[in-house]
Amino acid sequence: MAHPSTLSLDPRGRKVKILATVGPASRSPEMLDRLFRAGVDAFRVNMSHGEHADHAATITAIRELERRYARPIAVLADLQGPKLRVGTFREGQAVIRHSGHFTLDRNPAPGDENRVCLPHPELFGLMEKGQRLLINDGKIRLKVLRADADEILCSAEVGGVISDRKGVNVPDAEIPIPALTDKDRRDLAFAVAQGADWVALSFVQRPEDIAEARRLMGGHGALCAKIEKPMAVRRLDEIIELSDGIMVARGDLGVELEPQDVPPLQKQIVAKARTAGKPVIVATQMLESMIESPAPTRAEVSDVANAVYDGADAVMLSAETAAGQWPEEAVTIMHRIGVQVEQDETYLSRVRFLDTPPEKTTADALSHACMTIADTVRISAIIVFTGSGSTARRVARERPSVPVMVLTPEKKTARRLALLWGAQAVATKDIGSFEEMIAKGKRMALRYGFGQAGSKVIALAGVPFGTPGSTNLLHVVTISGDELERHEG
Ligand code: PEP
Repeated sequence: MAHPSTLSLDPRGRKVKILATVGPASRSPEMLDRLFRAGVDAFRVNMSHGEHADHAATITAIRELERRYARPIAVLADLQGPKLRVGTFREGQAVIRHSGHFTLDRNPAPGDENRVCLPHPELFGLMEKGQRLLINDGKIRLKVLRADADEILCSAEVGGVISDRKGVNVPDAEIPIPALTDKDRRDLAFAVAQGADWVALSFVQRPEDIAEARRLMGGHGALCAKIEKPMAVRRLDEIIELSDGIMVARGDLGVELEPQDVPPLQKQIVAKARTAGKPVIVATQMLESMIESPAPTRAEVSDVANAVYDGADAVMLSAETAAGQWPEEAVTIMHRIGVQVEQDETYLSRVRFLDTPPEKTTADALSHACMTIADTVRISAIIVFTGSGSTARRVARERPSVPVMVLTPEKKTARRLALLWGAQAVATKDIGSFEEMIAKGKRMALRYGFGQAGSKVIALAGVPFGTPGSTNLLHVVTISGDELERHEG
């Protein structure tokens, strides 16, 4: 990454990050550039749609943006996961009658209004009377009357039009299928080869699913668990423990559970991830109406604002930027909501309503001290020196009032942190001594607009430098006129 001598990090004036999904509406290099300038911090490449060649071109264009703006950008590859689907219909579709009977079976012949193939053998013999099968995002609701090794007979609580390969959700059963399908394995290998910074795992059911993905990633990229199954909610603590980040995937979560279950769960998941110091993304339908309209509904604006007030690390756009008619406008609105909320004088106290007491480590004690110092004296930024990004996460966990500038010799750490609340990372050469650290911190703060002559900044690091887990040094320094000369000279 090039580092021009003029200000270029251009802090966006907000701490919450924006993750935007790339698709046909946004994959041209021109539109990616416009979305980045409108406020996108990280791009999501959705492996459920599109070809590898398209995704590779998207990632190349994103890396080009990084070079152009000298700013790390995260690429998150979202794996499709074991999405269940029905087979096909003779006429392409059929109507399931309200209160009528409908059968899912193993017969590959095209279906009709009475039956269709369910090409997932593991579901037969597993389903029990009274359990639900939800089709097409829950628009059709079936209840199991009888199930055996070949057929699942259901009554239609809510009928409707069903068409070829519509998605099926099975909220009441733990399905004995691995979290990664063959397609996911191919997509994961592709994502790793493309240098994706994050891999998101869909339909996680158990901690073992995370462990399996982690093994396949072979030390490359960070792992985000999408919480969209009741089974995952039940084992949330263990899943958070094993993941690097969490996504509240409200789309499928709202199908597998009742819609009114989602808001309290969203709060709970955000709180738990924040407490663990792992970035948490609130996703799906945030500005849904902007797929077709240039202006959001008031309720959507409120939804985004509330996620920001809850202290989520990132808010996500899905179809709004992937396939919508107003991708740039959606990012612009999301950016404005973030800025506006964070300027509200009650913002910080609302974010800190969640108590995240420091764990009993030196790193946490110092991270907590950074937060209280910034609250007590006028500080323009906290400068964190880190290799893995761990110290940056512990500082961000405190939700300090000032920006966190992260200086790291690891380009991959800088990119990964694009999803972390309040962090603005710069990949830069490593430092070797205390004096070098202070001089570099001041110089970089000036260069990237995190301070000016006379500003105080906090430097946080670990000595010996480059030793993971060694965070033990906090220094408050004032930028003097000398650095200004050196910076300008
Ligand atoms: C969701 O279900 O909310 C989600 C983010 O997953 P996807 O968009 O992959 O369905």
